Amino acid sequence: MGPSAWIDRVQSLSECLEIAQSVCDMIYRQDQEYLDKAFHLSLQLMYEYLVRAVTLIGEKEVLQGFDIPPVRFTGLLGSDRLVSNRMKQVDSWCVPDVHMLQELSSTIELVFASSLSPPGPNRPHTGCTKHKCLAHQVKNGTYVTRHVAPDCACEFVYASQDSLYTLLCGDSPSIPLIAPSNPGRHSDGRLYVSLLQPGRLSSQPPYVAISHVWSDGLWNVDSNAIPLCQFNRIMDLTSRLNENSSIAFWLDTLCFPLAPQDAYDQALIRMRQSYEEASRVLVFDAYLLEYAVSEMSKEEVAMRIACAPWNRRLWGLQEGVLARALAFQFRDSYVDLTGWTKRRGYTTTSSSLMFSTAWSRYASLRALETETPKTMSIVQAKKALTWRSTSEKDDEPLCLGSLLGIDPESAVKTFIKDDPARTRLERMKVIWSSIPEHFSSTCSGTLRNSKIQASDGRRHHS
Ligand SMILES: [Zn+2]
Ligand SMILES: [Zn+2]
Repeated sequence: MGPSAWIDRVQSLSECLEIAQSVCDMIYRQDQEYLDKAFHLSLQLMYEYLVRAVTLIGEKEVLQGFDIPPVRFTGLLGSDRLVSNRMKQVDSWCVPDVHMLQELSSTIELVFASSLSPPGPNRPHTGCTKHKCLAHQVKNGTYVTRHVAPDCACEFVYASQDSLYTLLCGDSPSIPLIAPSNPGRHSDGRLYVSLLQPGRLSSQPPYVAISHVWSDGLWNVDSNAIPLCQFNRIMDLTSRLNENSSIAFWLDTLCFPLAPQDAYDQALIRMRQSYEEASRVLVFDAYLLEYAVSEMSKEEVAMRIACAPWNRRLWGLQEGVLARALAFQFRDSYVDLTGWTKRRGYTTTSSSLMFSTAWSRYASLRALETETPKTMSIVQAKKALTWRSTSEKDDEPLCLGSLLGIDPESAVKTFIKDDPARTRLERMKVIWSSIPEHFSSTCSGTLRNSKIQASDGRRHHS
């Protein structure tokens, strides 16, 4: 078939789709119950399938250089109600997860997601609102640091408070890193990790920064310590990520001192740097760790990443944005979506068709990949912040400031003892008051940058 025959075919298919869409939407607007829900859903799925076919035809070599008529089909109003209601009411998906999927996904992807087990089935989602999941919020006083296996009772490994202090607040302050070596026993009887002392004039050695979901149990509210089994697992996984050669790592639980205040402040000020200077950020999410990449289709892997609770963490956004390379750990291996699709030879269109939900989430994280410095405009930050929250409300201004590239020092130093609400308010004031000056000095670079795309023009029709 020659190019003009292809174009004629695409043209007439597009026209048919448009007519069918306007008829269906007209009926739906007049009486939502008139259209059978299953029939309505299957029409939408068939249309999406045809639209994808048309898009792929456009990629054909024979058509390169020709103008392919655009498909204006945007989806049938309300056609995904059957599947979204079932996800919320029968399959215990969290309400904001379903709304996120409706907003970012095609209906084909929504149906596909509904066939998977929902993230965090054991966590209660009662009380979650349309925009906020409460199941992963960490409540004060109830936090338990977990072992890799529930029945493990191994001892904890500690980071020395003195060494952390010296590294962060000494003469040549640096980010504390954990050396990839076995912990040693000190005179107090405890096991201690070796902290890396970067060479005086050299920059930080290569390391992997771990980004985790606090509610999964890798955090410790009392001390800079994690169970030995967790330590060994991180050593093993980071070395696999580094072509089976051991590599230093940064984990907030060990590297972020909780006291004294000046060490805590320094660590907070250097949070951005901790992720930005890592050769890779590795995401640990208990939901993803349950599944093996080798047992899933690529679409399932991508959809699981898109639905992972890690995406809900406000700090996760910063960690994902700042990472030079971002990898997600599964039970058997890790996945870096960018390298992963490139290795498998997908073209931009075919991979974005297959993984559009995952892509749109991932792209909003990685849009700044090639920018220096990696700072977002306010509009970008607002888009990327959608669907995210933090357990620690007073962290929000700092996280926002960090994304915008504002020096966090004055905000961190704004601290009202025993009054988190006022601390948060005062910190937010500091961040907002820095914005005009910050952007007038960085305007040439960052404000022009508007590459973040929340999604490629999909609709919301619930
Ligand atoms: Zn929830
Ligand atoms: Zn253990």
